[in-house]
Amino acid sequence: MPDLTPEQAFVFDYVERNGRAISLLGDSIFYFGELGMQEFETAGLMTALLEKGGFAVHRGISGLPTGFCATCGSGGPVVAIHTEYDAVPDNSQSAGVTEHKPIIDGAPGHCEGHNVNAAVLVATALAAKAAMDRFGLKGTLKVFGAPAEEQLISRPYLVRDGWFDDVDVAFHDHISSDWAAGYGLIQSALISALFTFHGESAHSGTAPEKGRDALDAVVLMDMGMAQYREHMPLTSRAQRAITSGGDQPNTTPRKASVWWYFRDATAEGAQKLFDQARKIAQGAALMTNTEAEVQVLAAVWPLRGNRTLAELVQRNISLVGMPEWTEDEQRFARDLQTRANVKVEGLRRDLRLPKGEAVQKWSANDAGDVSWKVPMVKLYYPANVPNLSAHHWAAGAPLATSIAHKGAVAGAKAMAASVVQCFIDPPLVEEAKKSFKEELGGLAYASLLPEGQMPPLDLNSDTMERFRPLMARHYLKETPEFR
Ligand SMILES: [Zn+2]
Repeated sequence: MPDLTPEQAFVFDYVERNGRAISLLGDSIFYFGELGMQEFETAGLMTALLEKGGFAVHRGISGLPTGFCATCGSGGPVVAIHTEYDAVPDNSQSAGVTEHKPIIDGAPGHCEGHNVNAAVLVATALAAKAAMDRFGLKGTLKVFGAPAEEQLISRPYLVRDGWFDDVDVAFHDHISSDWAAGYGLIQSALISALFTFHGESAHSGTAPEKGRDALDAVVLMDMGMAQYREHMPLTSRAQRAITSGGDQPNTTPRKASVWWYFRDATAEGAQKLFDQARKIAQGAALMTNTEAEVQVLAAVWPLRGNRTLAELVQRNISLVGMPEWTEDEQRFARDLQTRANVKVEGLRRDLRLPKGEAVQKWSANDAGDVSWKVPMVKLYYPANVPNLSAHHWAAGAPLATSIAHKGAVAGAKAMAASVVQCFIDPPLVEEAKKSFKEELGGLAYASLLPEGQMPPLDLNSDTMERFRPLMARHYLKETPEFR
């Protein structure tokens, strides 16, 4: 292991020393299992820990009840760290077992690992603040809690409302089975929109001529989109779910709706695809004598990584290295891979940092907008079993075990050391801003959100109301304490 600077040694020691609190925080949130916009227990615990650690906490930012901004320090440079902590519907899964075993059947749960993201974020914040205090480092650290990533809701609002206006550089942490911190385009742009058609009901047996069939419009829009696919550029993809299509065959459906995701490598491409879909919806409405209503639910830019920050994080990843897995952990990983029917190769043993520009993925993340506003890097840390598909029960089984715990410690070390380096070395921050400007090449960021758009506050509230009392029986009794 190369020699550590006093600041790196301090940060690594802080994180190591608080390993138990980090594990307990991630596990607590695993059992909260809260869906997007309903992360009240989760955000409550995170902000309580940050407040206790000396951060000033602003809750409810941008009108998001479970969003927050916690701040410490003053003046420049201003460094932001942020992540998401929402769960997924019907993803309840017991930890540490190699079979599909919901804690509560049908309930939401963490089968991707956003619970661990939250633990890494809080640990990074507290470790960085401890180092700022210990070494008298100047600057401001802003810690953002970003609700409802699974529905791509929060960060475009935070950017739109100016929460990143004074930020110089930003770091985003996300779980993986590998270490990575790439630069260039990493994820895709996405516009999520609900198309609702309004017609008129009638007895479909005795007076079908009186009905105006909203479901017909959904079907015709689907056909229009299917025909259009042939002319879509290879950078575009579109998927849909029909969310309402009438009640019973003897009544002409008065109302029907279809929810579309429009993806593209660029924000401009996603917008073009969405514009075309609106025309197709208008055509479907014309053909069926119905009216089309279009509601944008979310709209995000493709996530990109800044090269200067990616290289900074990669240097710290190399210092931290892969966690050392025990034979028991390896056996659990192989058993789980076998049961999930994916390639059986256990946990990663060696560090395989990506070389050159990242390969852009089809997934999207609402942190994308931040990455066009300020230089940003997304840090992937190894806290899950390789090859498992997120949102599948198998990917939930390791998330409150020693695999997630060790990965969270590693992730927090690399992210905290990178954040602290920005306060030690302000010219590095200037270099990131300079390379960011070059990377954008004059492209101006403008939000894809429609004018005046507000976040959907009721999102997932029915599901959480139904399951929360049952889930609360499984909450952990012990509260994490950092020292
Ligand atoms: Zn995620």
